[in-house]
Amino acid sequence: MDGYAQCLEDLSLASRILAQHGIVDGFGHISCRDPRSPKDQYLLARNLAPALVGPEDIVAWRISDAEPVDPKSPRGFLERCIHSEIYRQFEDVEAVVHFHSPDIIPYGLMPIPLKAVFHMASFLGAVAAPIFDIGDAFGPETDMLIRNTTHGAALAEAFTPPVPSAPTRPLVLMRGHGATLTAPSLKLAVFRAIYTQTNARILTSLSTLAGGAQNAAQMTRFLTSEECEASMAANAGQVARSWDVWCRELEKRR
Ligand SMILES: [Zn+2]
Repeated sequence: MDGYAQCLEDLSLASRILAQHGIVDGFGHISCRDPRSPKDQYLLARNLAPALVGPEDIVAWRISDAEPVDPKSPRGFLERCIHSEIYRQFEDVEAVVHFHSPDIIPYGLMPIPLKAVFHMASFLGAVAAPIFDIGDAFGPETDMLIRNTTHGAALAEAFTPPVPSAPTRPLVLMRGHGATLTAPSLKLAVFRAIYTQTNARILTSLSTLAGGAQNAAQMTRFLTSEECEASMAANAGQVARSWDVWCRELEKRR
């Protein structure tokens, strides 16, 4: 299998893994840069439920305007501008996930910080994930969706790191909608999505244990930035192990 065929296979596996873990359902999507032209194109499934995506369903899209490279391509996801605008603005991003997980949505609706509470989510860092509020950006008349490149560009700007030399932010919450995350590889994007969801679930458990979210935010000993850095380095070599077991789980369900 050549590099492009392997990429199609991996992207379709990634889509089905995210569905199996409840991160996406009938909606949500994952993309990666097109290895044939990574500066100008990205790969994303046609408009299809993530659990059903196979390699033959992947379409190449232009980063410049989110239109298909081949005009005869099947219809794409309405919100594909999320992906194109992030790739356009941040050249260190290789993969993007957009999802509506109900475990994540509460953290985009109230000022409870979503940041790392355990080592597998250390990529989230010690600073709260930003919240993109489409109502603030475009007024009260939107339907909450990222429908065009203007919306996509505004969301993408929320990924800007605090200092120019830092990597692109891994996660932006979207009020009343879901979240979008970035990663420097496709497999790492899946890893980040799964452990972002787990991290949110742990935080929600902490709110129960602490008698409320405000109490949890004050009482929780979040990972420090130093701990996050060290843990990310330790996890870097473990991504393939997780990927392999998640792929095996897909095979068992066939
Ligand atoms: Zn969405």
